[in-house]
Amino acid sequence: MEITEVRISLRDNEGKRLKAYATVTFDNSFVVKNIKVVEGNNGLFVAMPARKAKQFCPRCGKKVDLGSRYCNHCGVQLPLPPKDLASTKQATHQDLAHPINQEFRDYLQSKILDAYERERALGPRDSGIEETPEMQS
Ligand SMILES: [Zn+2]
Repeated sequence: MEITEVRISLRDNEGKRLKAYATVTFDNSFVVKNIKVVEGNNGLFVAMPARKAKQFCPRCGKKVDLGSRYCNHCGVQLPLPPKDLASTKQATHQDLAHPINQEFRDYLQSKILDAYERERALGPRDSGIEETPEMQS
């Protein structure tokens, strides 16, 4: 499968870890939106679109994030989810679409980061505000 288009929407705010959203087209026929370019501790990485798994508070019945210790609506302490479920990030963040092998993950990430660097090099075009691009190692 080939990536035929990557569109980048910069979200380059100082101090924010989220750098951009990417929209990726595969084989000219399938589009995935909301892929994120995130500044991690070891440089930029690509985060696939995900949703947080939810559970219902046993007291007030409102939705809370799976893995939370307390309900953020009524403050009641929540029962701990089963250990094996809570131990991994995959359990609380479910990817909505993602590569299933390392080879394609690397390909996807390099395509997106290349497009991101290109977009950054062009600079902001809509705002009309001059910004000095920061050099990052
Ligand atoms: Zn509650």
